[in-house]
Amino acid sequence: MKAEIISIGTELLLGEITDTNAPYLASQLPLLGIDLYWISQVGDNQARLVEVLKRAWQRSGLILTTGGLGPTEDDLTREAIAELLGEKLETEPVLEHEIRGFFAQRGIEMPLSTIKQAALIPSADPIHNIRGTAPGWWVERDGRILIAMPGPPEEMQHMWHEEILPRLRQCSTGGIIFSKTFKTFGLPEAAVGELVSPLLSSVNPTLAVYARTDGIHLRLTAKAGSQKQAEKMIAEGEVSIRAILGEYIWGTDDETLEAVIGRLLVEKGLSLAVMESCTGGLLATTITDVPGSSAYFKGGLVAYSNEAKIAYGVDAKIISEYGALSPEVAQAMAEAAKMFLGADVGVGITGIEETEAKSVGMVYIGMDDGKNRRVVKGNYPGSRPRVKRRATTAALFELRKTLTK
Ligand code: AMP
Ligand code: MG
Repeated sequence: MKAEIISIGTELLLGEITDTNAPYLASQLPLLGIDLYWISQVGDNQARLVEVLKRAWQRSGLILTTGGLGPTEDDLTREAIAELLGEKLETEPVLEHEIRGFFAQRGIEMPLSTIKQAALIPSADPIHNIRGTAPGWWVERDGRILIAMPGPPEEMQHMWHEEILPRLRQCSTGGIIFSKTFKTFGLPEAAVGELVSPLLSSVNPTLAVYARTDGIHLRLTAKAGSQKQAEKMIAEGEVSIRAILGEYIWGTDDETLEAVIGRLLVEKGLSLAVMESCTGGLLATTITDVPGSSAYFKGGLVAYSNEAKIAYGVDAKIISEYGALSPEVAQAMAEAAKMFLGADVGVGITGIEETEAKSVGMVYIGMDDGKNRRVVKGNYPGSRPRVKRRATTAALFELRKTLTK
Protein backbone atom coordinates (compact mmCIF):
# COMPACT_ATOMS: atom_id res chain seq x y z
CA MET A 1 0.00 0.00 0.00
CA LYS A 2 1.33 3.44 -0.97
CA ALA A 3 1.11 5.92 1.87
CA GLU A 4 1.31 9.69 2.00
CA ILE A 5 1.55 12.11 4.92
CA ILE A 6 0.21 15.65 4.91
CA SER A 7 1.15 18.04 7.72
CA ILE A 8 -1.32 20.88 7.96
CA GLY A 9 -0.69 24.30 9.51
CA THR A 10 0.43 27.74 8.35
CA GLU A 11 2.89 27.86 11.27
CA LEU A 12 4.84 25.06 9.55
CA LEU A 13 5.21 27.09 6.36
CA LEU A 14 6.26 30.19 8.28
CA GLY A 15 9.09 28.23 9.86
CA GLU A 16 7.67 28.92 13.31
CA ILE A 17 7.46 25.27 14.24
CA THR A 18 9.25 22.26 12.87
CA ASP A 19 7.18 19.41 11.55
CA THR A 20 7.82 16.57 13.97
CA ASN A 21 4.57 14.73 13.24
CA ALA A 22 5.54 13.60 9.73
CA PRO A 23 8.92 12.13 10.82
CA TYR A 24 7.20 10.36 13.70
CA LEU A 25 4.62 8.79 11.40
CA ALA A 26 7.29 8.03 8.82
CA SER A 27 9.18 6.03 11.42
CA GLN A 28 6.03 4.09 12.33
CA LEU A 29 4.90 2.97 8.87
CA PRO A 30 7.74 0.48 8.21
CA LEU A 31 6.56 -1.52 11.21
CA LEU A 32 3.37 -2.14 9.26
CA GLY A 33 5.13 -2.90 6.00
CA ILE A 34 3.59 0.22 4.48
CA ASP A 35 5.70 2.14 1.97
CA LEU A 36 5.71 5.89 2.38
CA TYR A 37 5.93 7.73 -0.94
CA TRP A 38 5.26 11.38 -0.16
CA ILE A 39 5.27 13.95 2.66
CA SER A 40 3.73 17.39 2.09
CA GLN A 41 3.12 20.46 4.19
CA VAL A 42 0.26 22.82 3.52
CA GLY A 43 -1.05 25.95 5.23
CA ASP A 44 -4.46 26.58 6.75
CA ASN A 45 -6.14 27.43 3.47
CA GLN A 46 -9.10 25.38 2.33
CA ALA A 47 -8.49 25.63 -1.42
CA ARG A 48 -4.86 24.57 -1.17
CA LEU A 49 -5.71 21.90 1.37
CA VAL A 50 -8.32 20.43 -0.98
CA GLU A 51 -5.79 20.55 -3.82
CA VAL A 52 -3.22 18.57 -1.82
CA LEU A 53 -5.85 16.11 -0.64
CA LYS A 54 -7.11 15.56 -4.21
CA ARG A 55 -3.63 14.72 -5.42
CA ALA A 56 -3.15 12.36 -2.49
CA TRP A 57 -6.51 10.70 -3.12
CA GLN A 58 -5.49 10.01 -6.72
CA ARG A 59 -2.12 8.47 -6.00
CA SER A 60 -2.16 6.97 -2.47
CA GLY A 61 -4.02 4.17 -0.75
CA LEU A 62 -3.38 5.52 2.73
CA ILE A 63 -3.40 9.24 3.52
CA LEU A 64 -2.42 10.46 6.97
CA THR A 65 -3.01 14.08 7.93
CA THR A 66 -2.12 15.93 11.12
CA GLY A 67 -3.29 19.36 12.21
CA GLY A 68 -6.22 21.59 11.43
CA LEU A 69 -8.71 19.78 13.67
CA GLY A 70 -8.82 22.50 16.33
CA PRO A 71 -11.81 24.68 17.14
CA THR A 72 -10.65 27.91 15.52
CA GLU A 73 -11.64 29.29 12.15
CA ASP A 74 -8.30 28.46 10.59
CA ASP A 75 -8.69 24.76 11.39
CA LEU A 76 -10.12 23.52 8.11
CA THR A 77 -9.18 19.88 7.75
CA ARG A 78 -12.74 18.61 8.30
CA GLU A 79 -14.16 21.11 5.81
CA ALA A 80 -11.50 20.21 3.24
CA ILE A 81 -12.10 16.46 3.50
CA ALA A 82 -15.86 17.04 3.19
CA GLU A 83 -15.23 19.10 0.05
CA LEU A 84 -12.84 16.50 -1.37
CA LEU A 85 -15.43 13.76 -1.03
CA GLY A 86 -18.48 15.89 -1.76
CA GLU A 87 -20.04 14.97 1.56
CA LYS A 88 -21.92 17.11 4.07
CA LEU A 89 -20.64 17.93 7.56
CA GLU A 90 -23.09 17.31 10.37
CA THR A 91 -22.77 17.59 14.12
CA GLU A 92 -22.70 14.17 15.71
CA PRO A 93 -24.71 14.24 18.98
CA VAL A 94 -22.59 11.61 20.79
CA LEU A 95 -19.40 13.51 19.98
CA GLU A 96 -20.99 16.78 21.06
CA HIS A 97 -21.94 15.17 24.34
CA GLU A 98 -18.37 13.92 24.86
CA ILE A 99 -16.86 17.32 24.12
CA ARG A 100 -19.27 19.04 26.52
CA GLY A 101 -18.33 16.40 29.10
CA PHE A 102 -14.60 17.10 28.62
CA PHE A 103 -15.15 20.74 29.67
CA ALA A 104 -17.70 19.99 32.38
CA GLN A 105 -15.31 17.53 34.02
CA ARG A 106 -12.63 20.22 34.20
CA GLY A 107 -15.09 22.85 35.37
CA ILE A 108 -14.34 25.12 32.42
CA GLU A 109 -16.93 26.91 30.34
CA MET A 110 -16.94 25.53 26.81
CA PRO A 111 -16.29 28.03 24.01
CA LEU A 112 -19.12 27.60 21.48
CA SER A 113 -16.69 27.21 18.58
CA THR A 114 -15.55 23.92 20.11
CA ILE A 115 -18.72 22.25 18.85
CA LYS A 116 -17.35 22.24 15.32
CA GLN A 117 -15.04 19.46 16.48
CA ALA A 118 -18.11 17.22 16.81
CA ALA A 119 -18.79 17.37 13.07
CA LEU A 120 -18.56 14.27 10.88
CA ILE A 121 -19.25 13.26 7.29
CA PRO A 122 -21.04 9.96 6.46
CA SER A 123 -17.78 8.23 5.41
CA ALA A 124 -15.90 9.21 8.58
CA ASP A 125 -15.71 7.35 11.87
CA PRO A 126 -14.53 9.42 14.82
CA ILE A 127 -11.25 8.37 16.47
CA HIS A 128 -11.24 8.75 20.21
CA ASN A 129 -8.89 11.40 21.64
CA ILE A 130 -8.44 11.12 25.40
CA ARG A 131 -5.71 13.77 25.44
CA GLY A 132 -7.79 16.54 23.89
CA THR A 133 -11.16 17.57 22.54
CA ALA A 134 -10.66 17.08 18.80
CA PRO A 135 -11.51 13.55 17.69
CA GLY A 136 -9.61 12.21 14.73
CA TRP A 137 -11.31 10.96 11.59
CA TRP A 138 -11.05 7.55 9.98
CA VAL A 139 -12.42 7.81 6.46
CA GLU A 140 -12.79 4.81 4.17
CA ARG A 141 -14.11 5.16 0.64
CA ASP A 142 -13.30 3.98 -2.88
CA GLY A 143 -10.64 1.55 -1.60
CA ARG A 144 -8.72 4.29 0.17
CA ILE A 145 -8.15 5.12 3.80
CA LEU A 146 -7.73 8.69 4.99
CA ILE A 147 -6.87 9.27 8.63
CA ALA A 148 -6.96 12.79 10.09
CA MET A 149 -5.20 13.33 13.40
CA PRO A 150 -4.84 16.38 15.66
CA GLY A 151 -1.68 18.52 15.39
CA PRO A 152 -0.33 18.57 18.96
CA PRO A 153 2.36 15.87 18.85
CA GLU A 154 1.45 14.34 22.18
CA GLU A 155 -2.25 13.97 21.23
CA MET A 156 -1.35 12.68 17.79
CA GLN A 157 1.12 10.08 19.04
CA HIS A 158 -1.22 8.82 21.70
CA MET A 159 -4.07 8.49 19.21
CA TRP A 160 -1.75 6.77 16.73
CA HIS A 161 -0.55 4.26 19.27
CA GLU A 162 -3.79 3.46 21.01
CA GLU A 163 -6.37 3.75 18.27
CA ILE A 164 -4.87 3.82 14.79
CA LEU A 165 -1.93 1.41 14.85
CA PRO A 166 -4.01 -1.58 16.05
CA ARG A 167 -6.66 -0.91 13.39
CA LEU A 168 -4.12 -0.45 10.59
CA ARG A 169 -2.40 -3.70 11.56
CA GLN A 170 -5.61 -5.50 10.63
CA CYS A 171 -5.68 -3.90 7.17
CA SER A 172 -2.00 -4.35 6.41
CA THR A 173 -0.97 -7.04 3.95
CA GLY A 174 1.33 -8.95 6.26
CA GLY A 175 4.72 -7.95 4.85
CA ILE A 176 6.92 -6.15 7.31
CA ILE A 177 9.90 -3.83 7.25
CA PHE A 178 12.33 -4.26 10.12
CA SER A 179 15.36 -2.10 10.91
CA LYS A 180 18.27 -2.13 13.28
CA THR A 181 20.52 0.85 13.88
CA PHE A 182 24.22 0.52 14.73
CA LYS A 183 25.81 3.51 16.44
CA THR A 184 29.48 4.25 15.96
CA PHE A 185 31.91 6.88 17.16
CA GLY A 186 35.47 7.71 16.23
CA LEU A 187 35.33 7.63 12.42
CA PRO A 188 34.10 10.38 10.09
CA GLU A 189 31.00 9.69 7.98
CA ALA A 190 32.99 9.35 4.75
CA ALA A 191 35.30 6.76 6.31
CA VAL A 192 32.37 4.73 7.61
CA GLY A 193 30.75 4.95 4.17
CA GLU A 194 33.90 3.73 2.46
CA LEU A 195 34.40 0.85 4.86
CA VAL A 196 30.88 -0.46 4.40
CA SER A 197 30.63 0.40 0.70
CA PRO A 198 30.34 -3.28 -0.36
CA LEU A 199 27.18 -3.51 1.77
CA LEU A 200 25.66 -0.23 0.53
CA SER A 201 24.71 -1.69 -2.84
CA SER A 202 22.56 -4.42 -1.29
CA VAL A 203 18.86 -3.99 -2.13
CA ASN A 204 17.43 -6.12 0.67
CA PRO A 205 18.48 -5.56 3.36
CA THR A 206 19.44 -1.96 2.62
CA LEU A 207 22.08 -0.09 4.56
CA ALA A 208 22.08 3.68 5.12
CA VAL A 209 24.71 5.84 6.85
CA TYR A 210 23.75 8.97 8.84
CA ALA A 211 25.76 11.51 10.85
CA ARG A 212 24.31 12.25 14.29
CA THR A 213 25.55 14.26 17.27
CA ASP A 214 26.62 11.05 19.02
CA GLY A 215 28.53 9.70 16.02
CA ILE A 216 27.77 7.97 12.77
CA HIS A 217 24.76 5.67 12.65
CA LEU A 218 24.13 2.85 10.21
CA ARG A 219 20.60 1.64 9.65
CA LEU A 220 20.06 -1.81 8.24
CA THR A 221 16.52 -2.40 6.93
CA ALA A 222 15.05 -5.69 5.77
CA LYS A 223 11.76 -6.30 3.99
CA ALA A 224 10.27 -9.75 4.46
CA GLY A 225 7.11 -11.79 4.69
CA SER A 226 7.43 -12.30 8.43
CA GLN A 227 9.12 -10.74 11.43
CA LYS A 228 11.21 -13.89 11.89
CA GLN A 229 12.49 -13.83 8.33
CA ALA A 230 13.33 -10.12 8.58
CA GLU A 231 15.16 -10.64 11.86
CA LYS A 232 17.22 -13.40 10.26
CA MET A 233 18.23 -11.10 7.41
CA ILE A 234 19.18 -8.38 9.89
CA ALA A 235 21.20 -10.82 12.00
CA GLU A 236 23.19 -11.89 8.93
CA GLY A 237 23.82 -8.27 7.94
CA GLU A 238 24.86 -7.48 11.50
CA VAL A 239 27.65 -10.04 11.33
CA SER A 240 29.10 -8.29 8.26
CA ILE A 241 28.78 -4.82 9.80
CA ARG A 242 30.39 -5.85 13.07
CA ALA A 243 33.24 -7.57 11.19
CA ILE A 244 34.04 -4.22 9.56
CA LEU A 245 33.23 -1.69 12.29
CA GLY A 246 33.12 -3.74 15.50
CA GLU A 247 35.50 -1.62 17.56
CA TYR A 248 33.66 1.60 16.69
CA ILE A 249 30.15 0.33 17.44
CA TRP A 250 29.07 1.34 20.92
CA GLY A 251 25.37 0.53 20.80
CA THR A 252 22.25 -0.18 18.79
CA ASP A 253 18.74 1.24 18.27
CA ASP A 254 17.57 3.39 21.20
CA GLU A 255 20.70 2.93 23.29
CA THR A 256 22.61 6.01 24.43
CA LEU A 257 26.29 6.09 25.33
CA GLU A 258 25.49 7.38 28.81
CA ALA A 259 23.13 4.44 29.41
CA VAL A 260 25.74 2.02 28.08
CA ILE A 261 28.45 3.29 30.44
CA GLY A 262 25.93 3.33 33.29
CA ARG A 263 25.18 -0.33 32.71
CA LEU A 264 28.89 -1.21 32.54
CA LEU A 265 29.64 0.63 35.78
CA VAL A 266 26.78 -1.15 37.56
CA GLU A 267 27.90 -4.53 36.21
CA LYS A 268 31.42 -3.95 37.47
CA GLY A 269 30.35 -2.33 40.73
CA LEU A 270 32.45 0.77 39.99
CA SER A 271 31.82 4.43 40.75
CA LEU A 272 32.68 7.40 38.56
CA ALA A 273 33.78 11.01 39.04
CA VAL A 274 34.60 13.61 36.40
CA MET A 275 36.45 16.92 36.21
CA GLU A 276 35.61 19.09 33.23
CA SER A 277 36.98 22.31 31.87
CA CYS A 278 35.84 23.08 28.31
CA THR A 279 32.63 21.02 28.49
CA GLY A 280 31.47 23.14 31.45
CA GLY A 281 29.50 20.37 33.14
CA LEU A 282 27.93 18.83 30.04
CA LEU A 283 29.56 15.49 30.73
CA ALA A 284 28.06 15.39 34.24
CA THR A 285 24.68 16.51 32.87
CA THR A 286 24.72 13.79 30.24
CA ILE A 287 25.74 11.08 32.72
CA THR A 288 22.89 12.10 35.02
CA ASP A 289 20.33 11.92 32.19
CA VAL A 290 20.22 8.19 32.95
CA PRO A 291 17.70 7.11 35.60
CA GLY A 292 19.51 5.44 38.48
CA SER A 293 22.83 7.17 37.77
CA SER A 294 23.16 8.05 41.48
CA ALA A 295 24.11 4.39 41.98
CA TYR A 296 27.47 4.93 40.28
CA PHE A 297 28.05 8.64 39.67
CA LYS A 298 29.83 10.37 42.56
CA GLY A 299 29.81 13.79 40.97
CA GLY A 300 31.31 16.22 38.53
CA LEU A 301 33.68 19.11 39.15
CA VAL A 302 33.60 22.00 36.72
CA ALA A 303 37.15 23.35 36.90
CA TYR A 304 37.18 26.08 34.34
CA SER A 305 40.08 28.10 35.73
CA ASN A 306 43.53 26.93 36.74
CA GLU A 307 42.71 27.98 40.33
CA ALA A 308 39.73 25.64 40.36
CA LYS A 309 41.78 22.77 38.97
CA ILE A 310 44.38 23.33 41.68
CA ALA A 311 41.72 23.64 44.39
CA TYR A 312 40.36 20.23 43.38
CA GLY A 313 43.79 18.65 43.54
CA VAL A 314 45.57 19.15 40.24
CA ASP A 315 49.26 19.85 40.88
CA ALA A 316 49.99 23.52 40.10
CA LYS A 317 53.43 22.52 38.79
CA ILE A 318 51.88 20.31 36.08
CA ILE A 319 49.78 23.24 34.88
CA SER A 320 52.70 25.68 34.82
CA GLU A 321 55.02 23.19 33.17
CA TYR A 322 52.70 21.82 30.44
CA GLY A 323 49.90 24.41 30.17
CA ALA A 324 46.20 23.85 30.91
CA LEU A 325 45.63 22.31 27.48
CA SER A 326 47.92 19.34 27.66
CA PRO A 327 47.69 15.57 27.98
CA GLU A 328 49.45 15.86 31.36
CA VAL A 329 46.75 18.13 32.77
CA ALA A 330 43.92 15.94 31.37
CA GLN A 331 45.52 12.98 33.13
CA ALA A 332 46.00 14.94 36.36
CA MET A 333 42.35 16.06 36.24
CA ALA A 334 41.16 12.44 35.91
CA GLU A 335 43.28 11.41 38.89
CA ALA A 336 42.24 14.42 40.95
CA ALA A 337 38.50 13.85 40.27
CA LYS A 338 38.88 10.25 41.34
CA MET A 339 40.71 11.21 44.54
CA PHE A 340 38.65 14.28 45.44
CA LEU A 341 35.34 12.42 45.16
CA GLY A 342 36.55 8.99 46.25
CA ALA A 343 35.55 7.22 43.04
CA ASP A 344 36.92 4.12 41.34
CA VAL A 345 37.17 5.72 37.91
CA GLY A 346 38.04 9.32 37.06
CA VAL A 347 37.67 11.25 33.81
CA GLY A 348 39.24 14.62 33.03
CA ILE A 349 38.49 16.86 30.04
CA THR A 350 40.48 19.91 29.08
CA GLY A 351 40.02 21.80 25.84
CA ILE A 352 40.94 24.92 24.00
CA GLU A 353 39.96 28.40 25.15
CA GLU A 354 39.17 30.89 22.45
CA THR A 355 41.89 33.23 23.70
CA GLU A 356 44.62 30.69 23.18
CA ALA A 357 46.55 30.47 19.96
CA LYS A 358 46.05 26.77 19.41
CA SER A 359 43.17 25.71 17.19
CA VAL A 360 39.69 25.73 18.72
CA GLY A 361 38.18 22.30 19.19
CA MET A 362 41.31 20.53 20.42
CA VAL A 363 40.49 18.43 23.46
CA TYR A 364 42.38 16.06 25.74
CA ILE A 365 40.48 13.41 27.65
CA GLY A 366 42.17 11.63 30.53
CA MET A 367 41.02 8.35 32.09
CA ASP A 368 42.10 6.73 35.32
CA ASP A 369 40.55 3.52 36.60
CA GLY A 370 43.19 2.81 39.23
CA LYS A 371 44.94 0.26 37.03
CA ASN A 372 45.24 2.01 33.71
CA ARG A 373 45.79 5.62 32.87
CA ARG A 374 45.53 7.01 29.41
CA VAL A 375 44.88 10.19 27.51
CA VAL A 376 43.29 10.61 24.11
CA LYS A 377 43.40 13.66 21.94
CA GLY A 378 40.40 14.81 19.95
CA ASN A 379 39.89 17.56 17.47
CA TYR A 380 36.33 18.76 17.11
CA PRO A 381 36.08 22.03 15.22
CA GLY A 382 32.82 23.93 15.19
CA SER A 383 30.69 26.16 17.37
CA ARG A 384 31.15 26.05 21.13
CA PRO A 385 28.02 23.94 21.78
CA ARG A 386 29.18 21.53 19.09
CA VAL A 387 32.70 21.22 20.53
CA LYS A 388 31.21 20.60 23.97
CA ARG A 389 28.80 17.96 22.66
CA ARG A 390 31.45 16.14 20.63
CA ALA A 391 33.99 16.23 23.48
CA THR A 392 31.35 14.85 25.85
CA THR A 393 30.49 12.05 23.43
CA ALA A 394 34.19 11.30 22.96
CA ALA A 395 34.73 11.12 26.73
CA LEU A 396 31.82 8.69 27.11
CA PHE A 397 33.07 6.62 24.19
CA GLU A 398 36.59 6.42 25.69
CA LEU A 399 35.12 5.60 29.06
CA ARG A 400 33.24 2.71 27.45
CA LYS A 401 36.52 1.46 25.98
CA THR A 402 38.17 1.63 29.39
CA LEU A 403 35.30 -0.26 31.00
CA THR A 404 35.15 -3.01 28.38
CA LYS A 405 38.89 -3.71 28.38
P1 AMP B 1 -3.75 22.15 15.09
O1 AMP B 1 -4.30 20.77 15.31
O2 AMP B 1 -3.50 22.45 13.67
O3 AMP B 1 -4.59 23.20 15.74
O4 AMP B 1 -2.33 22.19 15.78
C1 AMP B 1 -2.18 22.57 17.12
C2 AMP B 1 -0.72 22.68 17.49
O5 AMP B 1 -0.07 21.45 17.32
C3 AMP B 1 0.11 23.63 16.63
O6 AMP B 1 0.01 24.93 17.05
C4 AMP B 1 1.51 23.10 16.86
O7 AMP B 1 2.03 23.56 18.07
C5 AMP B 1 1.28 21.61 16.94
N1 AMP B 1 1.51 21.00 15.64
C6 AMP B 1 0.65 20.95 14.61
N2 AMP B 1 1.16 20.29 13.56
C7 AMP B 1 2.39 19.91 13.93
C8 AMP B 1 3.44 19.17 13.28
N3 AMP B 1 3.29 18.71 12.03
N4 AMP B 1 4.58 18.96 13.95
C9 AMP B 1 4.72 19.42 15.21
N5 AMP B 1 3.78 20.11 15.88
C10 AMP B 1 2.62 20.35 15.27
MG1 MG C 1 -3.48 24.52 13.08
